[in-house]
Amino acid sequence: MYVPMPTHMELVLQAAAFAAEKHRTQRRKDVETPYINHPIQLAYILVQANIEDSVVLAAALLHDTVEDTSTTLDEIEIVFGYEIARIVAECSDDKAQTKLERKQAQIDRAARLSREARLVKIADKIANVSDIEGAPPAGWSLERKREYFDWSKAVVDRMRGTNASLEKRFDAEYLKRP
Ligand code: NDP
Ligand code: ZN
Repeated sequence: MYVPMPTHMELVLQAAAFAAEKHRTQRRKDVETPYINHPIQLAYILVQANIEDSVVLAAALLHDTVEDTSTTLDEIEIVFGYEIARIVAECSDDKAQTKLERKQAQIDRAARLSREARLVKIADKIANVSDIEGAPPAGWSLERKREYFDWSKAVVDRMRGTNASLEKRFDAEYLKRP
């Protein structure tokens, strides 16, 4: 018997397919890992924390498309609607800023993000500190890895009270600070 796929699952898989297409030529900074592994990792971290809101999962899958590919927010809104576009916008750095300004802006803005964006952001920090342990960016010194861990913690600390399970997982990752 044919059972139609629930709409929420369709949305999540559509976002996965869209992100895979957009990131298709890219790799993570360890140079080996296909880029799409990272957004999929975020969605997996969220589901492991019992977050099954398809809007949040789709936004997680799309979170780096605007920052790291030629995708525009308008395009995200046309395909996925206003709410997902708004979460992706909240999770995207302002490319007009310097690298240093972006780092500070993430700390400054963290507490004012929507709950949905905070969930995606915390999952992003979990994934990235875990990768710095397991598949680090090529050429990073010990000092740079430590700086990244500490900056991530500063961002997450401003979002405490969002989701206990995610925060606990971040804290467990932070204990592995090199
Ligand atoms: P980032 O510190 O921003 O690079 C980390 C980002 O790269 C992550 O947030 C993640 O972002 C992405 N990423 C891709 N692959 C990986 C991976 N395998 N593991 C973890 N993260 C990955 O690098 P920048 O080059 O932008 O440097 C910016 C800052 O670093 C500046 O503020 C500068 O001051 C500082 N710096 C420090 C140095 C030092 O030796 N201490 C040297 C040079 C710079 P996403 O999830 O968005 O893809
Ligand atoms: Zn990311």
